[in-house]
Parts: sequence; structure tokens; C-alpha cells
Amino acid sequence: MSGKDCFEILNKIFKPKNVEKDINKIKGYTMKYGYIVENEDIIDEVLVSYFKGPKSYTTENMCEINSHGGNIILKKILEVCLKNGAELAEPGEFTKRAFLNGRIDLLQAESVIDIIEAKSEREAKTGIKQLEGKLSKKIEEIKQNILDVMVNIEVSIDYPEYDVEDVTNNQISEMLDQVEEKLLKLEKSFDDGKIIKEGIKTAILGKPNAGKSSLLNSILKEERAIVTQYEGTTRDTIEEFVTINGIPLKLIDTAGIRQAKDEVEKIGIEKTREIAKQADLILAIFDSTKDLTQEDFEILDLIKNKKAIILLNKVDLQQVLTKENSKLKESNCKIISISALKDIGIEELYKEIEKLFKFGEINLDQDLIITNIRHKNLITKAIENIKKTKATIQEKMPLDVIAIFIKDILEDLGKITGETVSEDIINEIFAKFCLGK
Ligand code: GDP
Repeated sequence: MSGKDCFEILNKIFKPKNVEKDINKIKGYTMKYGYIVENEDIIDEVLVSYFKGPKSYTTENMCEINSHGGNIILKKILEVCLKNGAELAEPGEFTKRAFLNGRIDLLQAESVIDIIEAKSEREAKTGIKQLEGKLSKKIEEIKQNILDVMVNIEVSIDYPEYDVEDVTNNQISEMLDQVEEKLLKLEKSFDDGKIIKEGIKTAILGKPNAGKSSLLNSILKEERAIVTQYEGTTRDTIEEFVTINGIPLKLIDTAGIRQAKDEVEKIGIEKTREIAKQADLILAIFDSTKDLTQEDFEILDLIKNKKAIILLNKVDLQQVLTKENSKLKESNCKIISISALKDIGIEELYKEIEKLFKFGEINLDQDLIITNIRHKNLITKAIENIKKTKATIQEKMPLDVIAIFIKDILEDLGKITGETVSEDIINEIFAKFCLGK
């Protein structure tokens, strides 16, 4: 429970054992042992933690009741709280209050969802970094750069009679260049951020019997793999999220790979093309016991200009197709011999993926990484507004016009941290939270 009445409500339903009865005298950050009661009936034996505002998650008075698990007891305790004046929290309401009460900014609040929903350690770590406030500080720093010049502009506009140092267009341009450079760097970090958050969208392509399902199984059964299955963007497709050696892969159309097994008909080239288009990475798998066929040529055609790795499968058998094959070499892709069945070459495959996406180069401790599309879009918008402002300067517009444009940039940045964001957007963001957070 959080809020000014929460201790009062707790008082009505909690009978502490052998301790101070007056809640106001109980210290913050302590736990008390006792019972939750309703009309003298004991509902459960509990431990209650006290957090006195402003040093709490929401900055309000807060308490947490730790009961025995199980649905009945939890429901009953909730019911008693509600009967005695508590209100059910909306999704994300605790974090929303922390934001509205100014303990964290919007960017930090959003990182709480990322931490809860993280599918990989990397993703959780980026979330924690953002919650710590490093990215917020960077945005604040950029805003401050703009404000420093803005103040001079406003003084010049409002008090032309004062002998303030004239802000020159050069000064403004210089500031805009610096700010733009910082924002471009952040915008670019979203490429990494997207991969950390969503995984490398990976398609396994190959003709029937090349070994697609065997490879899929080999990847999914990997000891260190954490697999999450969820519905794909289009109906009937399943996407599987795996993290192996810290590399997050989102395997697309895994259902298609499995279905193809039962179907006499192979998956058509159109469908394959569609999947290839969506993918960040293609694993093109060929049966090395046979020569290339027309279907293989079509796949080689699809991987042109894409990030792809060629896998020569069934290396445990007599080889017909080798790395020296001129058609394969023409593709300029890395070629790896594997046996999906016997787990040969799979480790080399992961190493290659890591290299291809420069995963080893991302320093999670130092680099500021944008993972949230809302933040990315606002940064892109701020960059566009910087360009517009520069154009107005070129056109020798008066200072007050330039000032209006600069305010737009500040507003874009303020929306990231939540100062200038509308209530609708705030509600939308917190609606994505789960209950009780
Ligand atoms: P898909 O149609 O592309 O999904 O191919 P499958 O994964 O179903 O493999 C087709 C056949 O090749 C199956 O009988 C597999 O057991 C076999 N196979 C797949 N990979 C290997 C391999 O690396 N070595 C051997 N010896 N057989 C393999």
C-alpha cells in the first residue's frame, strides 16, 4: 500500500506481536511480525515492512504485507485492505506515483518495464543502467547546453536596451552543431539497443531436408539457451527468443520450419522471400552431401546484400559440396561447415554472429544505449528540428523566430524525461505495466 492513509488502514487490520502499537513510532525500513485480522479473526501470520515517505519507492508512506502464498489468503488480505479504505492500484501505479512525485523521471520509469520484461541479462542490465539515471543525465546535459544559449537569446529579445553581449548567430550555430552531434550518437545507439531488446531477427533458410529443423533444435536445446516462445507478427507464425552466449536471437517463423516437415508441399519461394526480407540475419543452410540445386540458387539470390552466414550442413557425412564451390564463394558470405545433428560447428556459428553484429564491442557499463522506440523517435525529431533551426539561421531570420524553433527542440527532449509530455502519453506508458508495479 502507498499513500498518506496507508498506515492508518494497516492499523485497522494488522495486530503486531510484542511491539510498539503506535505506528508513528515504528521506524522506517523495519519489519514487524504479527497477524492480519478481520473482526478479531486471524487471516494470516505476516511480516509487514514499513517505509516512511519520502524515503520510499513512491516517496509516500508505504507498507508491504508479506503473507503466506496461495490465492485464497492473498485475495482475503486484499479484500480486507479494500474494505478498510484502500483502493486497488492501476497497472504501474506505484511507479507512476514515483514519477509524478518527482523521484524518477519518465525515462527511468519506463526502464522499470524493461527490467521486468527483460528476456536476456544484457537487456536487464541496460534497463538497470537507465534506471540509475545515466541516460537521463545525458539528456539533461544536452538540454542545459541549449538553455545556456536560450537564456542569452531571451535577454537580447526582451531587453534590447540592456547591454548584454549579443548572441551571435555563430554562437547559436555552434551550440546546435554540438547538440546535434550528441543526439546523433544517441540515435545511432538504437541499432544496438534494438538488438539488445528485440534480439537479432534471424531466419533459417534452406531447401527441404537441408537440415533447418535439426539446426533449430540444436540451437534451442543448447544448455545455456533461455527460450521464450511467442506468437509472431503475422498469424500462424511462432517466433522464439533465445539467448546464447549473451547473443539474443529472435528466430522467425519457427512454426514454418516445423510445419514444412509434415507438409508434402514445400514452403514456397514467395513466403521464403517474405521471411528473408524481415530478417536482420539469414542462416542459409545447404546439404553438403549433394550438389547445389535450383532451390539453393534461389536462396543464394535472396541473401545477396543481406547479413547472412552460409552453413554447409551434414559435415559428418561424405562431402560433395565444399567451401571451394564458386557459387558459394561468390556470395561473399562467411561459410561454416556444421553438423546440425551432431552439434559440430555450432559454437563457430555463434562466434561469427557475435562478430557480424559487433556484439563484443558494446560496452554496457560505459556506452549510453537507447532501447526505447519512443525515446528514439523523439531524438530523431529533435535532430530534424535542429536542422530546421539551422535553416532559419541561414535565412537570417530574426532572433525571436529562431527562439521559437529552439524551444521545439527543448520540448522534444523534455518529452523523453517527461517534463513536457501530455497526460495521455503518460497514461499510455503506465498502462503497459503489470499490476502491482
Ligand atoms: P529440413 O527439412 O530442412 O528441416 O531438414 P531436417 O532438419 O528435417 O533434416 C532432414 C534430414 O537430414 C533428417 O533426416 C535429419 O536427421 C538429417 N540431418 C540433418 N542434419 C544432419 C547432419 O548434420 N548430419 C546428418 N548425418 N544428418 C542430418
